[in-house]
Amino acid sequence: MIYPIVAYGSPVLRAECEEIETLTPQYQQLIADMFETMYAAEGVGLAAPQIGKKLRLFVVDASPFSEDEPHLANFKKVFINPIIVTEEGKKWGFKEGCLSIPGIRENVERKEKIVINYLNEEMQEVEETYDGLAARIIQHEYDHIEGVLFIDKINTLRKQMIKGKLNDITNGIARADYTLKFNVK
Ligand code: ZN
Repeated sequence: MIYPIVAYGSPVLRAECEEIETLTPQYQQLIADMFETMYAAEGVGLAAPQIGKKLRLFVVDASPFSEDEPHLANFKKVFINPIIVTEEGKKWGFKEGCLSIPGIRENVERKEKIVINYLNEEMQEVEETYDGLAARIIQHEYDHIEGVLFIDKINTLRKQMIKGKLNDITNGIARADYTLKFNVK
């Protein structure tokens, strides 16, 4: 099932997310639906709040970036109850976008390397190190389950410049090639 994507301005994107204790068939279906929703919207990552679920859960598939970084061809993963343990290295900038904030792309500075602890789709605990675009996608999605959006991390001048566009999205004025849902609590 393809969910509509929750748009900027919705309280659920700022909500506190809860951990998943048991991976029931309902959650397994939800994960499958999140992949389907992400692919339909041509995203490389999707976090549960973006479909209106207050859960510490996100999915990624970075294969569209594999032209730049070939090892990303197989970077398809589910992160359940993740915790970023460390973030280190030099900060680097990249123009990010977000399915919940259509039509806006802005430079975001992030540290280059992360260590993340999470449960995989078998509910096994995993700790892994990522850098480059893989780290960046994870950091972006991780922010979602912490109620943080990439536009929170851009400089004041740029923020001022996109204020009108953000207000439009909040008010339901936005276009995307996928279905958006506005003001989701
Ligand atoms: Zn996003």
